[in-house]
Amino acid sequence: MTLQVFNRMTRQKEEFKPLTEGQVKMYVCGPTVYDHAHIGHAKTYVSFDVINRYLRYSGYRVRYVQNITDVGHLLDTGEDRILKKAGALSLEPMEIVETYTRSYFEDMDALGVRRPNISPRASGHVPEQIKMAQALIEAGYAYATDEGDVYFDVHSWPEYGKLSGQRLEELEGGARVEVAEGKRHPADFALWRHAEPEHLMKWDSPWGVGFPGWHIECSAMATKYLGETFDIHGGGLENRFPHNECEIAQAEALSGKPFANYWLLTGSLTVDGVKMSKSLGNFITVKDAIKTYRPEAIRLFILSSHYSNPVDFSEAALVSAQKGWERLMGAVQLTRYALRDAPEGDAGSGFQVAIDEHRQQFIEAMDDDFNAPQALGVLQNFTREVNTLLNSGEEVGRETLEAIDAVYRELGGDVLGIVPDEISEAGVDAARQDGLIQLLIEMRAQARSEKNFALSDLIRDRLADLGVILEDRPDGTVYKLQ
Ligand SMILES: [Zn+2]
Repeated sequence: MTLQVFNRMTRQKEEFKPLTEGQVKMYVCGPTVYDHAHIGHAKTYVSFDVINRYLRYSGYRVRYVQNITDVGHLLDTGEDRILKKAGALSLEPMEIVETYTRSYFEDMDALGVRRPNISPRASGHVPEQIKMAQALIEAGYAYATDEGDVYFDVHSWPEYGKLSGQRLEELEGGARVEVAEGKRHPADFALWRHAEPEHLMKWDSPWGVGFPGWHIECSAMATKYLGETFDIHGGGLENRFPHNECEIAQAEALSGKPFANYWLLTGSLTVDGVKMSKSLGNFITVKDAIKTYRPEAIRLFILSSHYSNPVDFSEAALVSAQKGWERLMGAVQLTRYALRDAPEGDAGSGFQVAIDEHRQQFIEAMDDDFNAPQALGVLQNFTREVNTLLNSGEEVGRETLEAIDAVYRELGGDVLGIVPDEISEAGVDAARQDGLIQLLIEMRAQARSEKNFALSDLIRDRLADLGVILEDRPDGTVYKLQ
């Protein structure tokens, strides 16, 4: 089977055929950098990271572009998110942008998200956006107002609304849509806005001093780096309307060609069944999440539901993901330890059948619209078989062990990003954890010998809270992890 993807534009699964053989050009809407990234961002960007990784594993050369929105993304109140934050903290807008751009990459690096090939900033592409707005005016798809604003005329482009399936009559039916001065139709959207004198981020334009609308940055930067038509456009489903819809209108009205051939959008993330929001106090940043859970466990949690589906973040789900990851790593460590002094040769080569079968099943799952949860399931089944083999007492030669390790490195590591390359990282952590627990066991024994039972009980109870259960036996104390 070849790669099939669910195209949100056509609403069906299609065979993936890139424009240029062997190459994939992919654009994903990036973050607006006015705050730290939250776990909803993690869901979107880990999902596209795995798509990027799998395309590369499949032999494609990928040019992955993901923008940084540092101007123009307004709140419903009409305030610029970045300016509002800059005002509140008495900082330059570009200090806010720099702080949170760095923070974003720091978090994505920590989560093992490979950096896009190009991360263009909207503020660095204002001339391109002005040029596009000008071209749209010349072609009759946009108009400038006396105020110095430029709007896209949605009635001039009949396909407006095709991605989200919205109809103009429905959009304009409600009286909720505010009609700005000089705007011809309620659903027309801004390509350029005039800036009031106190506005901090502004540029000269043919329509006076102002700043670009949010949507035009993606059309301008995607076409600049990927061409008028490229292969995959991605992003979060919540941005399908109006953002993606406006991107399409701007780009396609101008070029007369499809903007992207495949639209892949990720489902949203809720926390304990509720949409995440600061006012509800259930807003979880990536930085907070990685204090509690291993990044690989967070990835595994995200990948355990299909990228296009919603996922619910809860402590129970994360604890379960962490345990799943530990089980997987248990087998990886067992394999790599066995490799240290493995006998030469192909003893245990009968296992090659299982290796080939699981690798094939993994590829079939990923070829089916990047079905990571199914691929994870294959890796878990494989792990059960590996444990059985390595605990059987049967001699397993270097060649077989290397073939097992290669499955973990390539499928678990290169593609899913949940198996570290070096055993040292996980191995050192496990060894350190074991050493610390042994130290506490010794301290508890010492406390007991001094009849300090308050302290010895405290050590036992606090360890139990952490899932480390002590068991006193005639020959000493042992522990097990819950
Ligand atoms: Zn975008």
